[in-house]
Amino acid sequence: REAKSKMPTYKGLEEFKLLEKMGDGAFSNVYHALEISTRKKVAVKVVRKYELNASQAGEKHLNEKFKKKPRVTERANILKEVQIMRGVNHTGIVKLYNFFESPEHYFLIMELMEGGELFHQIVKLTYFSENLSRHVILQVAHGIRHLHEECGVVHRDIKPENLLFERIEIVPSKNPSVRPYDEEKEDEGEFIPGVGGGGIGKVKIADFGLSKIVWNEETMTPCGTVGYTAPEIVKDERYSKSVDMWALGCVLYTLLCGFPPFYDETISVLTEKVARGYYTFLSPWWDDISHSGKDLIQNLLCVDPSRRYTIDEFLAHPWCNAAPAPPPPPT
Ligand code: ADP
Ligand code: MG
Repeated sequence: REAKSKMPTYKGLEEFKLLEKMGDGAFSNVYHALEISTRKKVAVKVVRKYELNASQAGEKHLNEKFKKKPRVTERANILKEVQIMRGVNHTGIVKLYNFFESPEHYFLIMELMEGGELFHQIVKLTYFSENLSRHVILQVAHGIRHLHEECGVVHRDIKPENLLFERIEIVPSKNPSVRPYDEEKEDEGEFIPGVGGGGIGKVKIADFGLSKIVWNEETMTPCGTVGYTAPEIVKDERYSKSVDMWALGCVLYTLLCGFPPFYDETISVLTEKVARGYYTFLSPWWDDISHSGKDLIQNLLCVDPSRRYTIDEFLAHPWCNAAPAPPPPPT
């Protein structure tokens, strides 16, 4: 944890006290913060408006004298991220409470997700049991269903770094729904964040930086307007929701075995594998995973987007509706 004295201050953000840095991006920093007037804990995403070059980055007093290059992330993109987050309202999606800006920064005041990234939980646990994976992926899927079916929004950046746990609940790894990542440490009481209290912490979708409003598939109209739209645009966007379903398949695969379906050190080889949809259920990691789970993944990691499962087909699949096995009897 960074010392409080090391927290930066931002002009325009005086109503908030920054407590801890939670996320680091190329152009944005996310902080755990306190809204001073209400004592409410929030997350603040601070996005820089201007590019700093290397020599300026270390300077304490930025400003007038520095040449300001427009940023890669333009105003319109931030406003779109904000507009989309304001338009959604679902427990599976991180809420935006407020948005404002200063001459140097944009500020997004959001619901605080203290449990951190799903990505970090996968790294900690190595992989999740089928029951725990189901708990996690169903919450994400219901969030996606809200986006796709009720808001006409495609997220376009579903990945474990953008799926966040609401809080950290600490329980011993002997919890039957979790396979500990280190058998030897199990008896020493290795702890597992995000799991506990007879259930697991809530998981929500964050980061609408790449998201987009899309066409209604039935009426072929954009949400809210009557179209004078060319057929190539309509055709192009027809399957755009399916990109989230592919990503959901990649997340589910990764949850179940601890490594992603497509990987290669060479980017050209990786690109080729993705393009062909070439992945395997590698032994021994996949040996004990149910046929039903594999079937679901096959219907998501399907190269032809017209044959890939939609969110409603996903939610109707038997694997999603399997009751979790009861915990083993005490020994
Ligand atoms: P970027 O566009 O830089 O990826 P994100 O919105 O994904 O920005 O935020 C970057 C990181 O900050 C996330 O991966 C997560 O670790 C953290 N983060 C983002 N939003 C929140 C939040 N509401 N609560 C807690 N942490 C968050
Ligand atoms: Mg992100």
